Parts: sequence; structure tokens; C-alpha cells
Amino acid sequence: MFGYRCQECGKGTVRPKRVKNYEARFGGRSVIVPTAIIGVCDFCGSKHYSASERKRWKALLSQRQISTKEG
Ligand SMILES: [Zn+2]
Repeated sequence: MFGYRCQECGKGTVRPKRVKNYEARFGGRSVIVPTAIIGVCDFCGSKHYSASERKRWKALLSQRQISTKEG
């Protein structure tokens, strides 16, 4: 999913990077992802997100909301 040419600078390659306790934001809500994979350009450092990763983070967000329900 990564390893492609960066669209931001057109020079670097977007490489997968493992980030611990990454805070993923969806609108006004956020969730801490224990181990997230994001793409980082090795030239300009811009961040790229894969659709499947974001889908996984969103699933985590909905799980958290169920477990932290007020009551
Ligand atoms: Zn770049």
C-alpha cells in the first residue's frame, strides 16, 4: 500500500512507518491506536494515510465508544 512516489514533492518515496499510540482524528472525535501504520515521505516528510488503515482506526473508535459508554 505504500512505497509509491510522494505527490507532495514528487521526489521522495512514501514509506510505511510504525507509530505507537497514534492519535487518529475523525472530525471532533479521536482514538488512540496502539500501533498505527502511516506513510511518511523520505524526502519531504509529508504524511500519507491508507484507506484500509483509516478503516481499522475507525473500527477502534467505535469499539472504544461502546466500552466507555456513560452509565
Ligand atoms: Zn515528499
